Amino acid sequence: MSGDKKPASSKPASSSEPPQNPPKSSSVKPEKSKTQTFGPPLNLTVPKNKAVGCEHLFAFYKKPGWGVEDTKDRYNKKLDLLIDYKKECKSCSTCHDVPASLYLCLECEELNCWDCADQHAKGEEHEFSLNCRNGYLWCHACRDFIYDSDLERVRCAHEKVIAATSFRKRKRPTADEARYIENNSNPQPCKSTGLRGMVNFGNTCWISVSLLSLLENPLLRNFFMTRPHEYQTCQIECCLVCELGRIFDAFYSEDNLSPFAAMEFIIATSKRLPSFRATEQQDPSDFLSLLLGRLCEDFNQKDPVTGECKCILHQVFHWKISDHRYCKSCKSKNTLDGPLSGPLLLFNKLGKDWRDTPAGKRRKAETKSDNPTPSLKVFLDEYYKKQANVPYTCKNCKNATEGNTTHFHSFKAYPMVVTCYFPWMKMGENTSPEHVEFPLALDLKEFATPVRSGKVKLEDAPSVWYDLFFTTVHHGSDKGGHYVCYARDREGSWFHFNDTNVTVAKPEHVLGSTSIMLSYILRKLPETEV
Ligand SMILES: [Zn+2]
Ligand SMILES: [Zn+2]
Ligand SMILES: [Zn+2]
Ligand SMILES: [Zn+2]
Ligand SMILES: [Zn+2]
Ligand SMILES: [Zn+2]
Repeated sequence: MSGDKKPASSKPASSSEPPQNPPKSSSVKPEKSKTQTFGPPLNLTVPKNKAVGCEHLFAFYKKPGWGVEDTKDRYNKKLDLLIDYKKECKSCSTCHDVPASLYLCLECEELNCWDCADQHAKGEEHEFSLNCRNGYLWCHACRDFIYDSDLERVRCAHEKVIAATSFRKRKRPTADEARYIENNSNPQPCKSTGLRGMVNFGNTCWISVSLLSLLENPLLRNFFMTRPHEYQTCQIECCLVCELGRIFDAFYSEDNLSPFAAMEFIIATSKRLPSFRATEQQDPSDFLSLLLGRLCEDFNQKDPVTGECKCILHQVFHWKISDHRYCKSCKSKNTLDGPLSGPLLLFNKLGKDWRDTPAGKRRKAETKSDNPTPSLKVFLDEYYKKQANVPYTCKNCKNATEGNTTHFHSFKAYPMVVTCYFPWMKMGENTSPEHVEFPLALDLKEFATPVRSGKVKLEDAPSVWYDLFFTTVHHGSDKGGHYVCYARDREGSWFHFNDTNVTVAKPEHVLGSTSIMLSYILRKLPETEV
């Protein structure tokens, strides 16, 4: 039933799953309880050339009898055991509860529900457990799944066996049942909803939200579902289009709602974008800009003569701007074609006195408050405001006095998707994102070239509506924290993605969130040309 949607990780009532991850970061000092449970805080530097799960696993490798090779060997043996455990015992050996997934201690034979495994970890200082459903390693000190390149290779060798014995494995219907189903069901146009959580490999929630912003983009989804790239014959090493295409397939072609593990993508990005390390929290806007650049390279659709790129990302995320100059001496107006803009609209920090600017005064009047919080409109007005102090020689009267010309930009052609980033994570201070008010639908007509150049009055200009479909939320400060996101599906319902958990959300939740990134999609092309 297409209307009866369920979140990807709806928890069965009896399940005992890890709680939603609290904000965390490797650069944040360990909490007191962790220090007491697992010894003094660790100040180890994780080696750069290797993706080591977490600092705890790195320390664990130094334990006598638990070097990398020994750990791989024992992890391998534990994975063998999972297959038997899946068939036979499905209840916790301590509390006898039947959870959605059991956890097997890496160091001893304990097989518990998550709560009991966590107790065991604290009591025995056995910090790592295997999730029996998929074999991923959970670090009880990090309170998260961790990713380690050595162990992941071991786990991947078991992937097929694990999939074959999954709790989610479906019983094949008999011929009679199949006929009954066929005669009594309505065909569903798309079996997959794309609502899958993502496994957080320690500190990779910033990669997950960046990926989800592409996966939940309706234009990219439609494009990638046509399988536009020769995945089989592609010769590019660590091709990111190939990797992204596979994830689109996994999200929209597979009848599978279990959390997705993007480890191949993470490995490919670590090779193609060496400045990003999956083990550290990084700014999603930097990551997304560079990722889109590399994807564009891999599409390789640049016109050799004009240099213009025809790739889907350029079509979706970039826009043409007009560059306006107004000379105060000779009163001449000059409108030029500016450079191509995009892929993101990166807002600047508002000045301390922003409430006294024209945009700030409008905001005060609108909110009937002397101390209003900023809105998206304030940031847009600031971004497109007229600037006076740009050095420029007037083409008409040759006057070059600084401040003689005003200068501003406008949309010459609208982008299909506008992705706005607020500057909170860019400040280098230990600040937290502020709440910015934003709408579910946004009309950008006032920033169109004909309106801004004065050729068309604002009230006569056709509306250019954009609809919000994705927001990224950050909990914590710029020193570290946790990224989650909201996405709207094709039926207009909102969902909250927090690592492996996907839950239904209401528009009020989205609008009330402290979002650092907003993605709007063009509702329809304006009737008249911009
Ligand atoms: Zn238990
Ligand atoms: Zn144990
Ligand atoms: Zn850890
Ligand atoms: Zn490729
Ligand atoms: Zn391109
Ligand atoms: Zn002039």
